[in-house]
Amino acid sequence: MLRTFHSDLSDWTSKYVSWLGRVAVLKMNLLPRLLYLFHTLPIAIPSSFFLMLRKEFLSFVWPKGRPRVGMAVLCRPKTRGGLALPDMKQYYTACHLLRIIDWSASNSDKRWLDLERTLSAYPLWAVPWFPPVAPQGAPSDPNPVAVTLRLWHKCKSTHGLSTALSPLLPLCHNPKLQAGVLPSLCIRLARSRRLRALDFAPDDDVGNPLCFREGDPPSPLERFNYLQIRTYLRDLNRSYSLHRPLTPFERLCHLGLALNHGVSTLYGLLQASDTTDPSFTSRWETDLGVAITEAQWKMTFTLAHKGFCATRSQETSYKILTFWYRTPSLLHHIYPDASPTCWRCDSAVGTHLHIWWSCPHIRGFWKLIHSAILQVTDMDLPFTPGCFLLLQIPLPIGTLKRSVLLLMLLAARALIPVHWRSPEVPSLRTWISRVEAFHSVDLLEAAAWDIETNMGLKWFHWDSYATLGET
Ligand SMILES: [Zn+2]
Repeated sequence: MLRTFHSDLSDWTSKYVSWLGRVAVLKMNLLPRLLYLFHTLPIAIPSSFFLMLRKEFLSFVWPKGRPRVGMAVLCRPKTRGGLALPDMKQYYTACHLLRIIDWSASNSDKRWLDLERTLSAYPLWAVPWFPPVAPQGAPSDPNPVAVTLRLWHKCKSTHGLSTALSPLLPLCHNPKLQAGVLPSLCIRLARSRRLRALDFAPDDDVGNPLCFREGDPPSPLERFNYLQIRTYLRDLNRSYSLHRPLTPFERLCHLGLALNHGVSTLYGLLQASDTTDPSFTSRWETDLGVAITEAQWKMTFTLAHKGFCATRSQETSYKILTFWYRTPSLLHHIYPDASPTCWRCDSAVGTHLHIWWSCPHIRGFWKLIHSAILQVTDMDLPFTPGCFLLLQIPLPIGTLKRSVLLLMLLAARALIPVHWRSPEVPSLRTWISRVEAFHSVDLLEAAAWDIETNMGLKWFHWDSYATLGET
């Protein structure tokens, strides 16, 4: 499999595919091929396989040198500062987690479940929730149930899916509860044959009949069995974890239903367990000397990917965001012989913020854009790098997407890399032509979505401005 992927990716590497296009190739071509196998073959896959795969992915996404953005950042969802590059190991984990949800479904018609039921000593719905017994089978054990359980116990705490002992701890079929559970007690307490720890109230009184559900009063035998179960739970000494609210994954299992779009849902759940921010966010905050709120970052990420349909514009937005462009100070850091001073003013250190914003030469260009935006849209934007570079604009995203303002800003930002490593500053005329190019793409997109009627209003003031500017 790796050989096939290596050969396919080597063939495509030389083709002219953009950076975002390469990520899309991995997502649309390689991911489905792997997912099919992950679904159909519930086997243990060693970490070395994923390491090799990651190496292949990295050399395809970065064919000409070292990665400029970390794999962990690229794999994050787009709404949280990534490019949604598939993390194959997490997809593999999600496929195994989906099997646990299928095991929990009460009326599943999946044929493979019959086979696995015969491989397991206990009902499949119960086995993931028994306290783990070390060791969880030999790593070479081909039994698919053992493979899924091994992975489950390994990842459940690290991804916040569950705890060592869960409220879903089964009492029926529990090998540690030697007295067993009377079927009639199961029905009384859980209304099903799946009695779990959560069906017991935390501090109810054994003698209090309210702790039993409505119906006939419990028989002495049922009361005795109830006491046995209480004692077993008390001996576990985990009263807190057994009565905590269920985690999202536990809720999915407890519902006992098959899950639609299961792998994507579980992959999202695994990704959500990483609550850290991408590394570039703190660098921006240090550079700008301001604290940027979560809502502002959300706006930046949304506009970077959905502000404009052109892939090239999205690519530039993401590259600015992740410090992709190599500035003189960075080049000097890598190659000490290279000069760290700005190639435009030749007086200050060419840091990222200087090149993009504070260099006196480029500041003039931004001032022109600021006044043009004021002229066309009547919007006096805050003259800050947060607004012009990170698109943290004090307007709702919906309004921005309907306005020409966003495309005017995107066009201005796209021109700076065009004059990279050159003392030249983009001219107003070049900017107008770039906005006009965006205008054509915008019209094409509107035609594709059949919303051309709104276009006249959106571009009306720009058209008057551009006509004046051209003359
Ligand atoms: Zn400068």
